[in-house]
Amino acid sequence: MLGRILSLSGLSEDRCSVCGLGISDEEQGYLCDSCLADIRPSHPIDYERIEWVSSYRIFGKYEGVLAEVIRLIKFRSVKPLARRLGEIVKEHLEEFLEEARPDIITWVPLHPLRLWNRGFDHNQEILKGTGVRAESLLVRVRYSKPLASFGREERMRRVRNAFRVRKEMIDEVEGRRILLFDDVLTTGSTASTISEHLLSIGAEEVFLYCVAKEG
Ligand SMILES: [Zn+2]
Repeated sequence: MLGRILSLSGLSEDRCSVCGLGISDEEQGYLCDSCLADIRPSHPIDYERIEWVSSYRIFGKYEGVLAEVIRLIKFRSVKPLARRLGEIVKEHLEEFLEEARPDIITWVPLHPLRLWNRGFDHNQEILKGTGVRAESLLVRVRYSKPLASFGREERMRRVRNAFRVRKEMIDEVEGRRILLFDDVLTTGSTASTISEHLLSIGAEEVFLYCVAKEG
């Protein structure tokens, strides 16, 4: 509906931002179905140990159409693409869930101010698209510039104490296997600090699933 209003007003980009062909999808209006259909898991992916994380899985490299989808979701707030991306990673995520067998699936949340700004939490929205049942476990308590602009040491410092478990969920963590979902893996410092925190309050193991890996 919004897409239709935008295209009638001439504001919608009616060409795919990757291949430049026309788009029939009125729902989002940025990427054509054939470019979206090209998004597949990347092989091989280099896995380096992330401290405190038992094991993790990455769907693809942060490049090409996959990177474009994530940028559109995060920087242009294209909510319908988040659901579409969820549908795309669903099968790959489910394979990992069979291995990890988590009791709780949750996501790296946005700070409330950024959530207010964007109108939706992209990680939560992508997860909705996968159809996997996820629970809101964490809150981001520190607002900072995107971590990508800092060096490794500074990221670690900033990310420490940036998240905590929601008060009403603290009792749920004890003895549980928790899977953390995040869109982009850069150095792993966010996942590592969150995992350390979850283990420190009694989680049995923490797993991580990321849609894309940078670098
Ligand atoms: Zn296209």
